[in-house]
Amino acid sequence: MISKARKVLDIRELATELPHIRYVDPEFVYINLTTERAKKYSLNVKKGDKVYLGQIIGERDGGFFKQPIYSTVSGEVTDITTKRHLEFVVIRNDYQDTYCETIVDRSDAMIDAMSKADMIDIIKNKSLVGLGGSAFPSYIKVNTDKEIETVVINAVECEPYLSSDYRLVKDQPEQIFKGLKYLMRVLNAKRGMIAVKKTKKELVEVLEREVQRFNKDSDISIAKLADYYPQGWEIEMFKNALGIKIPSGVLPMEYGVIAFNVSTCASVYDAVKHNLPITKRYLTVNGDAINFPQSIRVRVGTNVRDLIKLCDGYKEGIEKINVILGGPMMGEAVGTDDVVVTPTTTSVLVFKDVDYHEETCVRCASCVLSCPVDIQPVQIMNAVKRNDKKSVEYLAAKKCIECGLCAYVCTSKIHVTDYVRKGKQLIG
Ligand code: SF4
Ligand code: SF4
Repeated sequence: MISKARKVLDIRELATELPHIRYVDPEFVYINLTTERAKKYSLNVKKGDKVYLGQIIGERDGGFFKQPIYSTVSGEVTDITTKRHLEFVVIRNDYQDTYCETIVDRSDAMIDAMSKADMIDIIKNKSLVGLGGSAFPSYIKVNTDKEIETVVINAVECEPYLSSDYRLVKDQPEQIFKGLKYLMRVLNAKRGMIAVKKTKKELVEVLEREVQRFNKDSDISIAKLADYYPQGWEIEMFKNALGIKIPSGVLPMEYGVIAFNVSTCASVYDAVKHNLPITKRYLTVNGDAINFPQSIRVRVGTNVRDLIKLCDGYKEGIEKINVILGGPMMGEAVGTDDVVVTPTTTSVLVFKDVDYHEETCVRCASCVLSCPVDIQPVQIMNAVKRNDKKSVEYLAAKKCIECGLCAYVCTSKIHVTDYVRKGKQLIG
């Protein structure tokens, strides 16, 4: 079965075509104590303490918001450790999945009786964040006083190699529709929409079947969008799904629309229905260095090395690898596979490392022509090299969404996106 699949499927498709596997039983999980947005923390457990699945073990502090930290297994705290300059609590899994007493199922009647404030409290207390990679606290996003007409669930997943959102929609469509309905209630929105690529015909079929069921008492539709990058960028998605052009720097809420990544939507369902924080997620392990790419439902806190083993390890003869957390265009190169799955890890990509040597810019303008926000990456790069802050500002580097296209198309293999990113940092 496996060898046949290897022969007939392209490596990028492999993880999409095969059923996902479950890997929710690592011996140890590593729970991150800080994030990019929350750099301080306090802990209420110590080495040797017994913890339950879904128990609060500490709190992150993001300055203007606080986030409880949850255990994703039941077991024993064995250590506090550091990986890649980040601190983690290490918990030995007892494989019992003993839930904390706060994890309770709510009946539909209980949920129907909830107020908007009750739902926002749940989203806040369960530490829900944007799971498409932004990690922005969801309770802040839903606590808007703007009038929202339409809530859009973004399942477009436009970067190559990724398939975790695909698997989530295919395997759990009911949870997605229910999560969307909860979000529509919180935001008092009349309409809901789920955006997918029209080339993913199986997903469109699944969603259209569910629409029949859920539209008895709500107005939910499916937007079938073209398959190109960056179709999943929300501004592009709103333009093509709803015909709304949102100018740069303006929040979609000003136009009565709001978008959530599909994994975030599922996390809202789990929090409202089961009072669950994020303890598991779908992710893709893919790339040309991996023997057997897979979509995996994985426990948050799992070491990536364990996942690579599950995918039959690395191909023979590979000396150097390039590990990316996230997609190939927007992900972060981390330089090691000794890293940990967090709630926002959408994928782990491992490629054979090839040394690229940047050549001189030939002024081909490919980067300018490909930029979706109509700025001039090459000019920004030149200004950054001169340390010319004024020009970087004038050239509107801040509009860059870090989509990676300018580097991807560059004839001279220049890491143009890195320069634009530096430009953004330069002007603060
Ligand atoms: S990464 Fe490059 S192409 Fe993408 S938005 Fe930024 S400057 Fe434009
Ligand atoms: S794509 Fe590369 S070579 Fe062409 S103008 Fe931009 S930076 Fe220069």
